[in-house]
Amino acid sequence: MNFKDYIRVIPDFPQPGIRFKDITTLLKDAAAYRAAIDALKELVKDKEIDLIAGPEARGFVIGAPLAIELGVGFVPIRKSGKLPGETVEAAYDLEYGKDRLAIHSDAIKPGQKVLIADDLLATGGTISSTINLINQLGGEIVGAAFLIELSYLNGRDKLGGLDVVSLVTY
Ligand code: AMP
Repeated sequence: MNFKDYIRVIPDFPQPGIRFKDITTLLKDAAAYRAAIDALKELVKDKEIDLIAGPEARGFVIGAPLAIELGVGFVPIRKSGKLPGETVEAAYDLEYGKDRLAIHSDAIKPGQKVLIADDLLATGGTISSTINLINQLGGEIVGAAFLIELSYLNGRDKLGGLDVVSLVTY
């Protein structure tokens, strides 16, 4: 399946110069959504994984179904102030902004093997911060899986040689 056919590119959103990759057009197509999750599963099937961690909000729509398919748990990473329990936090930069991410302090036990999942790798800011959070809890990061990679932003280079897989590259 050519996943690009299902991803809508919206120019100048949320600000001038950003070409926003809208995956809602893929998600609403049952066969395309299923095929994308199956294809990601295939790319990580040889890894030993205990948990998938995904940043809100689109990391949930990729990470949670992938966790179900792999038979592992899912850990949500959220913007600061949203999680109800005790958290650890890390600051991060976006292609178009700045924010803080948080994870429950007891979400990952030291030594657990964690795969990061998100919809899109842009500058790598979000994932660097996600890596920081998982490292704070002593998790072992085994890789990162994305639907989309914006290779012209060189996000991979920020991730310290982490094994990165993606389905679609722009
Ligand atoms: P970054 O931290 O720069 O790698 O950006 C990661 C997050 O920002 C992704 O998970 C996307 O949800 C969102 N994002 C950044 N750039 C874009 C874009 N051009 N189109 C759609 N989403 C984007």
